[in-house]
Amino acid sequence: MTATVALSGVGKRFRTVEAVRDVSFSLDEGEIVALVGHNGAGKTTLMKLMLGLIQPTAGSVRVLGEDPASGAFAARRRLGFLPESVSFNSALTGRETLAFYARLKGEPVGEALALLERVGLGAAGGRRVGTYSKGMRQRLGLAQALIGAPRVLLLDEPTTGLDPALRQSFYEILQELRGRGATILLSSHALSELEGETERVVIMNRGAMVADGSLAELRRLARLPVRVRLTA
Ligand code: ATP
Repeated sequence: MTATVALSGVGKRFRTVEAVRDVSFSLDEGEIVALVGHNGAGKTTLMKLMLGLIQPTAGSVRVLGEDPASGAFAARRRLGFLPESVSFNSALTGRETLAFYARLKGEPVGEALALLERVGLGAAGGRRVGTYSKGMRQRLGLAQALIGAPRVLLLDEPTTGLDPALRQSFYEILQELRGRGATILLSSHALSELEGETERVVIMNRGAMVADGSLAELRRLARLPVRVRLTA
């Protein structure tokens, strides 16, 4: 396994708020890992650090072997991101939306449009995004994140608010990407949403990493006298 993302002793302070402190973990190729925690636990801050949008105040962040906050970050195009609330121009069709993002990212439009099929929106590609359901918009968001065939995908609460069937179809796409060697980190408020979908879970609480392991391991720990809270 090759580590695609490596965090070592990472801290991030915003004035008086210590959003993240002393977080270390690494992610491998072909892994789906969930980042779980309450509101304000530091999940989005960790993603922003991995995207290179902000600099750590302590420790180091490496993505595909480079510092993502460096101007010289050559692997930027190999990093895909789905923000927590992605809003599209409702007057554009799904195809127009992906063509727009492909141009923005300097990637071939034809390849971007092929992603519509991949996320199950092939038939709806000619419809305006304003007519899409929440699940369809989430899948369009995923297609946008997949432009340029990223090796690392960061998805901020991608399944929040989706019904179980939509969540299931979303995870099927992620499993397929994982099979092709992508590293996928997705954040979630609740462990219950992840059942059977991710092998590994990193739990954050008030900026600190409190657990990193498989769901089964974490459950076993929860049964020990030292209480580990598993419901985020
Ligand atoms: P949510 O589930 O609500 O998205 P989260 O786990 O993603 O929460 P973060 O958004 O990373 O949490 O926030 C962690 C802490 O850092 C919070 O206390 C938040 O208020 C604070 N914070 C995040 N960004 C900033 C900022 N730019 N300036 C000041 N404080 C910030």
